[in-house]
Amino acid sequence: MTSSPFELAQAQQYPAATLYVVATPIGNMADITVRALHVLGLVDRIAAEDTRNTGQLLTRYGISKPLIAVHEHNEREAAQRVIEHLRAGERVACVSDAGTPGISDPGAKLVDAVRAAGFLVVPLPGASALATALSAAGDWVSTFTFLGFLPPKTKQRASALQPLASHTHAMVFYEAPHRIVETVQALADAFGPARRLLIARELTKLHEALWCGTLAEGPTWLAEDANRQRGEFVLVVEGASAPASGEADHDALLRVLLQEVPVKGAAKIAAALSGASRNALYARALELKEEEEDSEDEED
Ligand code: SAM
Repeated sequence: MTSSPFELAQAQQYPAATLYVVATPIGNMADITVRALHVLGLVDRIAAEDTRNTGQLLTRYGISKPLIAVHEHNEREAAQRVIEHLRAGERVACVSDAGTPGISDPGAKLVDAVRAAGFLVVPLPGASALATALSAAGDWVSTFTFLGFLPPKTKQRASALQPLASHTHAMVFYEAPHRIVETVQALADAFGPARRLLIARELTKLHEALWCGTLAEGPTWLAEDANRQRGEFVLVVEGASAPASGEADHDALLRVLLQEVPVKGAAKIAAALSGASRNALYARALELKEEEEDSEDEED
């Protein structure tokens, strides 16, 4: 006989004296896992970024629990209170306002403190705006770097973006509605007009929109309709193209190696060091060897 998801969640072990890091929805109340609901119902108390917000969320799910406020301004002190409850053998859940705790949200310092105090930390996966946007981005985002929120001030934002111009991974940013226009423009200024941009707006909600274009087109798309500037945003920007393999660097490497080892060995070592094709390096090593022998003949 097959078990229902609720029976499966119930049948599992949930050790006492443990912190459960629980992801909650990023807008769509149906996006919560069965296991998350079971654990939120099981724990003795819940550490929440905003107790009012979490209280309302729990009410929607028919759950009522004692809450502890753990937000960015009190996370270290609040962690000590959580640890006292764990010492007493309690199970404590940690949730943020939306999505996965610790991702541009409180939770990471609590996790550090709880682990340092010798207690178990168990993550319960679920919604995150980061993974949701990436799941619908496409194949051009095969490697990515998550950068969260950029600095709000123009100068600091430009300084933060400048070193990223040569970064070859796609880059993922979070942004709020009141800064979306200037941030997209700042990305275009820093990375040039041609790179791909995904604007993922209001994910999982009624006005969800995913727009894919270039950095040059991004500000125009936002300006065309004021509604497009409302809500919550994930921005995914294509990384810089990988630098063309430096033939001059390969030649320099092969010349040094050819002083010490035969052509085949030089090509093998150069391929291992540079990641370039062994056959191409072998062919080039042969040419360099011949050039070297010709010039030696001329000297004689
Ligand atoms: N911990 C959350 C997570 O796992 O994604 C992120 C919290 S962070 C304080 C809030 C930011 O996440 C928003 O400003 C926005 O950039 C992004 N975000 C959250 N929900 C979103 C949604 N439904 N659609 C698009 N972006 C969202």
